[in-house]
This record gives sequence, C-alpha cells and structure tokens, in this order.
Amino acid sequence: ERTPPPPLILENATVRFGGIVALNDVSFTVEPGTIHAVIGPNGAGKSTCFNAITGVYKLASGKITLGDTVLSNTPPHKIARLGLGRAFQNLALSGTSTVLDNVMLGRHSLMKGGFASYGLRLPWVIKTENRHLQRAAEICDFLGISQHLHKPAGLLSYGDQKRVDIARALASEPKVLMLDEPAAGMNSTETAEIAQLIHDVRDELRISILLVEHDMSLVMDVADHVTVLDFGKRIADDVPSAVQKDPAVIRAYLGA
Ligand code: ADP
Ligand code: MG
Repeated sequence: ERTPPPPLILENATVRFGGIVALNDVSFTVEPGTIHAVIGPNGAGKSTCFNAITGVYKLASGKITLGDTVLSNTPPHKIARLGLGRAFQNLALSGTSTVLDNVMLGRHSLMKGGFASYGLRLPWVIKTENRHLQRAAEICDFLGISQHLHKPAGLLSYGDQKRVDIARALASEPKVLMLDEPAAGMNSTETAEIAQLIHDVRDELRISILLVEHDMSLVMDVADHVTVLDFGKRIADDVPSAVQKDPAVIRAYLGA
C-alpha cells in the first residue's frame, strides 16, 4: 500500500512585510498522516503561514522541509511537484469549464511534457491522458461529485464547488493537502460534511492535512493537533482538548 507521507516541518519560520513581522519565529511539525490545524484570531498570521509553506511568500529566516526536501523559498509551481496540494480560500475554479476539466488541471504537475504534448494525438499520449482522466474521475467519486463531472463548475452549489477545489488539489497526488479556511462561507450542515470529508481524506488516502482555520469549532472536532498563532507568534501547540483550555489561547480569542 501507500508509504506514509513525510513530516512537514517549520523551523523558526519568519516572514516580514516591511516593518511588520507577520510570522515570527514559528516552529511546528505536521506529523505523517495527521490533521494539523493552524488557528488564531484575525491578523494572527495564518494566511501568511499558509502562503510561506506553499511558496507564495519568502521566509526572511528559518526553514520549511517536507521529509528530506527543503521547501522554503521554492516557487509555488514547483511546490506542487514536491508533494503539496493546495485548495484556495476563495474559490479559484473556472466556472465555465467542466468539473472534470477543473480537476484535470490538478494533474498538470504530474503530466510529462505538460499540456502542450496533449495537443498531439499520439497513441501513447491518448493512453496516458485516459489514465489521468480515469484517476481524476475516481477522485471526484471519492469526494461525492461524480454526478457533476460534465457540468460547468459554476453551476454547482457553493459546497460542491469547494469539493471540486479539494478534488483538484488531491489530483496532484499530494503528500500533504493544504486547506485555507475550508469552512468559510459554509452553513453548519456543509461544515459538518467538510469535517467528515477531511477525516475521510486522512483515513482513506493516508496523507497529511494542514488546515488553516478561524472557526474554532471545526478545528476542535477535526484536528489531531493544533498550533495557535497570535500577532505572528506561536502561543500554543498541542492536542485540541489542551489548546481549548489554554489561558493564553482563551485570552487571544477574547481579545483581552
Ligand atoms: P490571518 O490570516 O491570521 O488573518 P494574515 O497572515 O493575513 O493573518 O496577516 C498577518 C499580518 O500580516 C497582518 O498584520 C497583515 O496585515 C499582514 N500582512 C499579510 N499579508 C500582507 C502583505 N501581503 N503585505 C503586507 N502585510 C501583510
Ligand atoms: Mg487569513
């Protein structure tokens, strides 16, 4: 079966924007095959942390590694090939393309020669393309959106579009799935469904999940481990039950 994913490790990661230290000397480890949440009040540095891991922002100092591979300061398009799959906080789907075509975009990083060679209808190309299409359809099935494969993504409900976005991230066969506020804009039923889905991804695909989330209730239900940020600094790093009782965390969330 699948080998367990490598650990994702942040060591003293620091990101600056001019005079602002948006991420200040932050360290934590996403253990293989776990759901790890990064939480914190608005402006805590969650998105900055997410963007540093996915290569959108450079570190001023510190290091990010996935197993033996150094990720820090690697451009985003290379990060996907190194094993990080990301879904977006604001949906970045092509509304007019079909669900299947949107998910196939996620396999781009796996396709030899990229999409260009797929314009040439050579027999081996068609065979490889069919294999990719089949896998993309399997992933959609896993996420419960297979009935929508050939519909324009823009016609789906918000919750289902979120699933398409996650399917596209999974289509790159990541070792770590990165989710930025997956429950944003969702009602409580949809949030519960997303929580179930995140568990299914961990248990059935056996990959790690790093989840950045403002909504404490989702995190407490779904995460194996939680890192709490406040003003760019790590203020707690523990199992959810311990984090929930931590006075520093309570203070940060109450804004006291
Ligand atoms: P969160 O996602 O936890 O709400 P952010 O990571 O978005 O927090 O922001 C952390 C801090 O960094 C905030 O003070 C924010 O204003 C600042 N910041 C984030 N991104 C940028 C940027 N691109 N340029 C300048 N400042 C930024
Ligand atoms: Mg944010």
